Amino acid sequence: LPIEFKQALPVIDKINEHGYEAYFVGGSVRDVILNHEIHDVDIATSAFPEEIKEIFPRTIDVGIDHGTVLVLYEEDQYEITTFRTESTYQDYRRPDTVTFVRSLEEDLKRRDFTMNALAMTREGNIIDLFDGIESIHAKEIKAVGNPDERFSEDALRMMRALRFASQLSFDIEEKTEEAISKNHQLLTKIAIERIYIEWVKLLMGAERKRGIIPFVETNCFICCPGFSHKKELLVSFANQNPEMLLTSEELAWSCLLIAIEEKHAKTLLGKWKASKRLSNLVEKVIDCYNERLTSQWSAKEMYQAGIEVISLVEQVRDFFGLENNEDELIKAYNQLPIKSMADLKVSGRDILAYMDKKPGPWLGRVLKQTEKHVVEGQWENDKKVLLEKIKEMVG
Ligand code: ATP
Ligand code: MG
Repeated sequence: LPIEFKQALPVIDKINEHGYEAYFVGGSVRDVILNHEIHDVDIATSAFPEEIKEIFPRTIDVGIDHGTVLVLYEEDQYEITTFRTESTYQDYRRPDTVTFVRSLEEDLKRRDFTMNALAMTREGNIIDLFDGIESIHAKEIKAVGNPDERFSEDALRMMRALRFASQLSFDIEEKTEEAISKNHQLLTKIAIERIYIEWVKLLMGAERKRGIIPFVETNCFICCPGFSHKKELLVSFANQNPEMLLTSEELAWSCLLIAIEEKHAKTLLGKWKASKRLSNLVEKVIDCYNERLTSQWSAKEMYQAGIEVISLVEQVRDFFGLENNEDELIKAYNQLPIKSMADLKVSGRDILAYMDKKPGPWLGRVLKQTEKHVVEGQWENDKKVLLEKIKEMVG
C-alpha cells in the first residue's frame, strides 16, 4: 500500500471500530493500479455525516449537503464522503437531491467511469463491481451502466471522459463515445466554469491529442465558446508538436489561441470566464509572439514584457517549431539596467527640486523619456548623471 493510504489507515480503522464500513475510492485507487503518483485519497463510508462528526472531534463541513466531511486527523486531513445515490437530475446538471445509503454498491454505481468506480479495503483488496480493472488494463474509458443515461444525468461527464483520455492516454470505449456524440448538445447546460476546469486539464494532459480528436469528432467543440468555426484548426492544433507537454495553463491557452488563429484572445477568454490575470497575460504573450515573428526582442520590448511573458513567448515558439532562445533572453533580461520604474535612480520629486519648475504633464513625459534612455543603455542609471541629462533635454 502506498504511503498516502497507509497514513489514512487509522482513520478507516476508527470508522470501522464504530461499526461502519469505510473504503478508499475514486481516482486514487485507479492511480495505484496505474502506478501513477497519488495526490489525494478519498474515503467513502456507510456512516452518515453526523455519525462521522461524532467519531472525530475535529471536522470541517466542506460539502455536508453532498455528504462530504473533512476530517482533521493528526497532521493530515481527509475528505470522507458518505455512500450516496443521486436522484432527480434536472437540467442535465448535478443532482438536486442526494440520498445517503448504507451500500457501497449503490455508491459505486453512480460514479462516472468503470475505472473510477473501484473501492479498496484497508488491506489493499480491490472491490471491482463494474470491471474497472479490466478497463484500466485495456486503457479504456467506459461509462458505468448505460452511457446515454449517464451523460444525460450529468453532461459534464462527457468533458471528464475527454480529459481523462488526454491525461491517462486512454481511449474512450466505443459505446461511451457514441453516447458523447449523441448527447454533446447537453454541454450547453453546464456552467462554463466547470467545463473550463476539465478543458484545461485536457490541454495540459500527457497526450492531449487523444482528448482533442474525440472532442472534435463527437462535436463537443461546437458547444464550447469560440470554437464552433474552428474544426480544422483544432485538429491541426491536436497534431502540433505532440511530444511537447503544455506545462502551464497560460502556455496551453497561448498555444491554442495562436493555433486556432484567434484574433481576440481576451474576448474568447472572457466567454470562458477566465481570470483577468490569465486573459491579460495570454493576450500579451500572443502580441509579443507575433512581434517576434518579424523582429528580435529589443531591450525596451523585454523590459515592457517582463520575464514571465518572455519565457512564455519562447515556449510558444518552441511549440510551433521556431527557435527558442529562452536561456539567452533571460540572461539578457537580467542584465537590463532597470526592471521597473522603481529602479530608476531619480524620482519625480528629485527632478522637480533640481529643475526648480512647477509640476505638470511635462514631468510624466520626462520620466518616460528617462526610463527609455536608461533601459536602452543610452543614459547611465545614476542620479547625478540623470539629472544633468534631463536638464539638457528639457532646457
Ligand atoms: P483526479 O486524479 O483528476 O482527481 P479523480 O478520478 O479523482 O481524478 P475527481 O474529480 O477528484 O476525479 O472525482 C473523484 C471521484 O468522484 C471520481 O473518481 C469518480 O468516482 C467520482 N466523480 C467525480 N465527478 C463525477 C461525476 N461528474 N459523475 C460521477 N462521478 C463522479
Ligand atoms: Mg481526485
